[in-house]
Amino acid sequence: QAVFQSDIGSLLEQVGTGKESLSFMKRRIRRMAAQWASAARRLDDKLRSHWREQKMILVHVGFLTEESGDVFSPKVLKGGPLGEMVQWADILTALHVLGHNLKISVSLKELHGFLGVPPGRGSCPLTGPLPFDLIYTDYHGLQQMKQHMGLSLRKHKCHIRVIDTFGTEPAYNHEGYATLHGYRTNWGYWNLHGQQYMTMFPHTPDNSFMGFVAEELNETEKHNIQRNKVNNIAVVYGKEASMWKLQGKEKFLAILHRYMEIHGTVYYETQRPPEVPAFVKNHGLLPQQELQQLLRKAKLFIGFGFPYEGPAPLEAIANGCIFLQPKFNPPHSSLNHDFFRGKPTSRKVSSQHPYAEQYIGRPHVITIDFNNSEEFDATIREIMRINVEPFLPYEYTCEGMLERVHAYIQNQDFCSPEAPFPPVNSSWLSSPPSPFLLLPNSSILTWASNASSYKSWPPLSALRLLASLEGQSCVDACQGAGLICEPALYRFINIKEAFSALELQCDGVESEMNHLFPAFSAEHAECGLQQDPLLFSCAGSSAKYQRLCPCRDYRSGQVALCRDCL
Ligand code: UDP
Repeated sequence: QAVFQSDIGSLLEQVGTGKESLSFMKRRIRRMAAQWASAARRLDDKLRSHWREQKMILVHVGFLTEESGDVFSPKVLKGGPLGEMVQWADILTALHVLGHNLKISVSLKELHGFLGVPPGRGSCPLTGPLPFDLIYTDYHGLQQMKQHMGLSLRKHKCHIRVIDTFGTEPAYNHEGYATLHGYRTNWGYWNLHGQQYMTMFPHTPDNSFMGFVAEELNETEKHNIQRNKVNNIAVVYGKEASMWKLQGKEKFLAILHRYMEIHGTVYYETQRPPEVPAFVKNHGLLPQQELQQLLRKAKLFIGFGFPYEGPAPLEAIANGCIFLQPKFNPPHSSLNHDFFRGKPTSRKVSSQHPYAEQYIGRPHVITIDFNNSEEFDATIREIMRINVEPFLPYEYTCEGMLERVHAYIQNQDFCSPEAPFPPVNSSWLSSPPSPFLLLPNSSILTWASNASSYKSWPPLSALRLLASLEGQSCVDACQGAGLICEPALYRFINIKEAFSALELQCDGVESEMNHLFPAFSAEHAECGLQQDPLLFSCAGSSAKYQRLCPCRDYRSGQVALCRDCL
C-alpha cells in the first residue's frame, strides 16, 4: 500500500549533487514542499476509500546524463531552457509524495546499477525479471536503455513512460508505417503505445498529459497581489538574448513603451545584450522566486513568439498578469518551422502558447496579430484598464498533478494483453452482445450502459461515438462537441456496427493500416477499419474521410481524466 509522504528529505538526498541542473531542481523541490504537502492531505481526504498499490519506480533522466552530452546543465544560469527541469523536479516530487518506492538515475552507471546490469558489459541484456513496475525516462534515456539492455528492452517496454515535451503522434511512433509513409524522424518509431508518451501540456490526447505545477496562491495572497499591482509594468517573456531578435519588434515595443515600463530578465555576462533596447529595465536572469515577485507587481507578461509552450506564462497568469502573445498565421509546425522540424508530430501550433490560448483565454490570455499596430495599441490600453484575478487551472496545481499521476499509475496498463473485442461469449451468440447497442443521444451515440462491465480505463461508459466532418481530425471533432478524443476507447468502435449506428452506409468494408481509420469515404461509400491498434490516432485528417471518433467527457480543470476515471 502506498502512503502519502510529505517529508522530502530522502528525495533531496537521492537527487544528488554536482550539476547546476540538479541544484535548480532541488531548490524548486524545497521551495514547493509545503504546497505539495497540503495538496497531498487534500487528495488523501478525497481518495479516502482507495487502496493504492505501492510501485517500484525508476526515473532515468536521460538528457542530464554526461553520455547524452548534457547540454542543459551548463546553461541553467545562462538563460538556457529550464522547462524540462521544472517538469522533472515536479514528476520526482509527485511520485515521492504519492508514496512510491523511487530510484533516481542521472548517469549510465546508476542506470546499470539499478537494472542489475554488470558494469562494463555494454549491451548485455537484462536477463532476470525487471526490478521495476514503472520506468520514467525521456528519448535520450530510451536510446541508452536500448543500447544497454539490448533485446530485453522489447520484453520490458510496456513498463516504460517517456517524458516527451511536445508529443509523439501514432503515425510517427509506428516504425513500419512511419518508414513507408514519410513519418520517419530522429525521435519517433519506438512502437510504444501512444499513451506511454507523456507531454508537458495536453497537446494531443494520443499521448498522456503529464504536466508540471505552478505556485498556487491563497486568498490573502491573491488579495494582496491585486492591491499591489502596478498597471503600467510589463515583463517580457524571454531569458535569452536570441529570443529578442524577432523581426519588426521595434514597432510594437515602441507602442508598448508609450504606455508601460518594460522589464526583462535576459541573461548577460558583462553588459546589456545588443538585442535588448536601452529603455528596457533588464534584471538579468532571476532566481525563480524573484521572478515570481516581479510577476506579482507586473500587469502584463508579453511573449515575442519564442520559446514555445513553456511554463512561464502559467506562472505569470497565476500571479495575476495578463499574458499577451502573438497569433501564428499560418500556424507553426514540423512542416514549416525549424524548431519543430524533425519532431514526431505534425501538430499545428496556432500561437506561442496554444494551451494558454485555448484552455485559459480571455481575460487572462490575449492572442493577437502583433503586426497590426492599431489592434496592438488598443489591446495594451485595454490591458491597463481591466482587472484580472490570479488564475491557475486545477490540472497545474499540486493537487491536480497528484490526482492525475495517481490515476495513471493505478489504472494505465500497457502490459496485459487486451481482451479481444467484440467479446467472445457463448450466451451472446444467440442475442447480439450488449456493447453493440448504441443509443442515440442527439448526434452523439452512447453505449448501452450494461456495456460498462467491459474492462477498460477510461471506462466504456464514458464513450461517446461521433463521426468527424471530412477533413477534420478526431481531436477537433470531439472538441467541437465539448468532449475529448480518447484513443484507449478506439478498440470498441473499430467495428462495422459503429458505421451503421452513425447511419453511414458501407458498400464495402476494408481493413487497412492507416492512421486515419476507422473512417468512412463518402465518395466510394467505403468503410475502413483499422488493422493495427498501434495506429489508433486522434490526430490526423484528410478531405477524403469522415473519421469515427471515440470521445469522452472530462473533469472540469482536469482534461486527462473522465468523470468516472478516479
Ligand atoms: N525562469 C527563471 N528566471 C527567469 C526567467 C524564467 O527562473 O529570469 C524560470 C521560470 O520560472 C520557469 C522556467 O524558467 O519556470 C522555464 O521558463 P520558460 O517558460 O522560459 O521555459 P523554457 O523555454 O526555459 O523551457
